[in-house]
Amino acid sequence: MAAQWPPEVVPAFLMSSPSCDYLIVGAGSAGCALAARLTESGRHAVVLIEAGEDDPWVWIRIPTGIAKIVVGQRALWRFTTESEAGLGHRPLFWPRGKVFGGTSSVNGMFWVRGDPLEYDHWRDLGNPGWSYADLLPIFKRMESYAKGDPAVRGHAGPNIITESSPRDALTDAFLRACAQAGIAENPDYNSGHYDGAGLMQFTTRRGLRWGAREAYLRPAMRRANFRVIPRAHATRIHFDGRRADGITYRVGDQSHAIYVSREVIIAAGTVQSPQLLELSGIGDASLLAQHGIAVRHHLPGVGENLRDHLHARLMMEVRGLRTLNETLRSPWAKAKMALRWALFRDGMMSVPGVTAHAYVHTDPARRQPDIKLQLHHLTSPDERNPTRIVLDEMPGFSLGIVHQQPSSRGSIHIRSGDPIAAPEIRANYLSHPDDMQAFIRGMRMARQVVAQPALAPHIVRELRPGIAASTDATIADYLVKTIFSSYHPVGTCKMGHDPMAVVDAELRVHGVPGLRIADASVMPTIPASNTNAAAIVIGEKAADLLLASV
Ligand SMILES: Cc1cc2nc3c(=O)[nH]c(=O)nc-3n(C[C@H](O)[C@H](O)[C@H](O)COP(=O)(O)OP(=O)(O)OC[C@H]3O[C@@H](n4cnc5c(N)ncnc54)[C@H](O)[C@@H]3O)c2cc1C
Repeated sequence: MAAQWPPEVVPAFLMSSPSCDYLIVGAGSAGCALAARLTESGRHAVVLIEAGEDDPWVWIRIPTGIAKIVVGQRALWRFTTESEAGLGHRPLFWPRGKVFGGTSSVNGMFWVRGDPLEYDHWRDLGNPGWSYADLLPIFKRMESYAKGDPAVRGHAGPNIITESSPRDALTDAFLRACAQAGIAENPDYNSGHYDGAGLMQFTTRRGLRWGAREAYLRPAMRRANFRVIPRAHATRIHFDGRRADGITYRVGDQSHAIYVSREVIIAAGTVQSPQLLELSGIGDASLLAQHGIAVRHHLPGVGENLRDHLHARLMMEVRGLRTLNETLRSPWAKAKMALRWALFRDGMMSVPGVTAHAYVHTDPARRQPDIKLQLHHLTSPDERNPTRIVLDEMPGFSLGIVHQQPSSRGSIHIRSGDPIAAPEIRANYLSHPDDMQAFIRGMRMARQVVAQPALAPHIVRELRPGIAASTDATIADYLVKTIFSSYHPVGTCKMGHDPMAVVDAELRVHGVPGLRIADASVMPTIPASNTNAAAIVIGEKAADLLLASV
């Protein structure tokens, strides 16, 4: 069957032939990296279809704009989880990027490769080629970081990595307090040495967001062998016999199809990659039958193994330190911050309200740091309200507490055969008792840091949870009521060879020729860090695997 194209998007290379070599679904962190590397040689005709568009919205580029993005309707999929039993039956808001660059265009811009030991664990789970040593050359080639040891850091890659500047009094006090609490300083947590406290690194360039759109997609879009189709929602994978050979997609209410001579690669992210598989008959046979979908291949792991990071906050009222609470309340201070950004492209407008963090050990049984503390220059009574952000009136800062290796597992599955309906997300947060214990230890560690001489003289009081929450039970009660997602879902099409694995170590979907997955959904475990760099390394590696196979 010939492909039908909306006339304005027919790529030149498709004028003479109705198919391309590779078709990628999803222009997110991994999809952009994959598309750019695959088209570099000019040898392969590649089409990338993306439900979002190349949105020029200024708040996508200005780092503080994240606060506007996550409460808005633009450039986002606004998913929510089902009511979560472990969180007092609260559903949690789960934004994802629906825009060129995907979630890298709406995220917090922290550049964190992750814990090297976690990648070694991926290899040990039966995934050759995915240890930290295997991935190091890719991490290096994909980044451009002016500082750091050239043996382990890249200096000429497409992802521009910077740190916040100038240094401010709150950041300095936090880092000194960490040292006083016995947390060693680590000048570069992306060097392979992960533990300790230091300045955060960001995907920004000259004070502007530098996501996968800027790093990979825009340069690649100049190539004659590459075409991106915007506002195109993939609805089904198409098959020729058992082999995947194309995609059906919708632009508005019009349906179209594209066919491939080589492979289809799904990079629609942790929420929508399993959804597209299930809609296409790849998944657990009984679940597909419930929704009246003909089973093409029984693969029970599709949509399972969901993991995410939760994020708790210790909030302190302070004196003698400048914070965003009072800066954003004062038109004069706000104007000064904006002017500084306009003139020098630095200061608090060039970062997402966060400047430093610490990876700490609170569990003696583990080799890896289990808790991350993150310095936020603000406090809010209801910070993750998905429709508005309100800051406290008094100066204040928060320590974010993120448990790095959650044991709770969830799932994402279709609700129906309607390809446009949001899937059902069950994160099962805090369903494993170890996770609550880790957060209680994390809260106590955060309190230890703020009690150190470098911070103590500035503390007016603990705003939240408040010193009355001193027992495990009262801390747990606060956490259940207030904890929210770090927005790092992974693992719903996990890589491996056990019966619940969806792709193999070369990212090929088990039992379905012609189909690969390349995004955060293939991570067998969460990489003990923020997940953008890990998603990008998967896109880069997927390109290597495809290029090696032809
Ligand atoms: C608010 C927020 C803040 C975050 N902060 C950080 C941070 O500071 N640092 C960090 O490392 N990580 C952060 N993350 C997480 C990180 O950005 C993601 O893990 C990563 O971007 C995921 O990449 P991906 O390629 O798997 O998916 P995505 O980047 O989400 O890409 C998937 C793409 O597929 C498209 N798509 C989906 N379904 C379809 C379909 N059916 N048809 C066509 N297109 C489709 C989507 O529109 C999207 O563009 C944050 C996430 C959020 C939401």
